[in-house]
Amino acid sequence: MISKIINIGKIVTWDNVLDDLSVCNQSNLEIMIQDNEIIEIGENLENNKDQNIIDAENGLITPGFVDCHTHPIFFGDRSHEFKLRSEGKTYQDIAKTGGGIKYSIKRLREATKEQIFEEALPRIKSFLKKGTTTIEAKSGYGLTLNDEIKSLEVIKMLNDNSNLDIIPTFMGAHDFPMEYHENKNAYVDLICNEMIPRVAEYKLAKFCDVFCEIGYFSVKQSERILKTGMDYGLLPRLHADEFADSGAAQLAADIRACSADHLMHSNKDALKAMADNNVVSVILPGTTFFLGKKEYVNAENIINSGGEIAIASDYNPGSCTIQSMPMIMFLSNLYCKLPLEQGFKASTYNPAKALKLDQNIGLVKKGYIADLLIWNIKELSEIPYMFNNEDRFVKVIKNGNVIN
Ligand SMILES: [Zn+2]
Repeated sequence: MISKIINIGKIVTWDNVLDDLSVCNQSNLEIMIQDNEIIEIGENLENNKDQNIIDAENGLITPGFVDCHTHPIFFGDRSHEFKLRSEGKTYQDIAKTGGGIKYSIKRLREATKEQIFEEALPRIKSFLKKGTTTIEAKSGYGLTLNDEIKSLEVIKMLNDNSNLDIIPTFMGAHDFPMEYHENKNAYVDLICNEMIPRVAEYKLAKFCDVFCEIGYFSVKQSERILKTGMDYGLLPRLHADEFADSGAAQLAADIRACSADHLMHSNKDALKAMADNNVVSVILPGTTFFLGKKEYVNAENIINSGGEIAIASDYNPGSCTIQSMPMIMFLSNLYCKLPLEQGFKASTYNPAKALKLDQNIGLVKKGYIADLLIWNIKELSEIPYMFNNEDRFVKVIKNGNVIN
């Protein structure tokens, strides 16, 4: 099917050749789409009676947002913990009494695949309503062979039953389950000897992720897990240096990971090594905000090291329930010192890079997938400025189809 977008006010996209923001606002600009791909952008493109016409109503067009770090596969939320937090309890206090991730693990293990799917589907649809057209999604609340496979199978079911594209990540190394607290290396053995081979055999994930942090997976354990994943064709990415400088960012550089995420406490040498090895720095200001912390990651340190930044929601039941990329842009612009244009690149093109999809999504460009947002706004700055206003979409286009 051929579709043509007419009445375009402006097209705003990152230009990956000039490495700069591109703003096109000449009159009679149109976009031609064949099936799911942009095949032409220009003035007064040819007419054909079989074309499907999409009226942009003089709106501004951007690529759909790409959210490259989420944990949406959980069962039962943790709103009861929020009450405790509102009474002054910290995340750590709650974790000590059996709450936190332990609660999510218990609930997910008890639920069937179908129950988890039913509960997760509205969440998945909600991403799309907020303008996110691709997410990365991690397992990691099961932490047994069967429960990790179950979580990844739910991701596959969600992918098959929604318009959102969901890129699966195996994260059996999210935490050590209770039953392995006395013998942590045995759990690393389980991940490397049983989980990774099975995930690869069933083709259930593109990436392998590890929570590399003091008190969680050590640099040595993380390296073993990620290298085993690589042997089985799973691309490496890391949760790195969220609570302390644990050496995780340096490990990301050493193994040339696709991304290292959080980076709250990474040192400058490690950030430089990451930049030199094309590891995308993913920053997650929504988590800092949701946890009520004062100190945000400073994007200037990453930019000065020469690194590429992506921003993501870190959507999960415990430390961030934000799904809106405009809000994440707002937080990164204001609190992480990421200028507006860089925040836009960090929510479209760079997360596509972190997911190794930058040849296909994240830009409004000929040959790219037609994942497009048509906004009822005049300027890019209105996106983070009015972050809480979802009725500004004229249309959301996913794979060439108008979905709202
Ligand atoms: Zn995370």
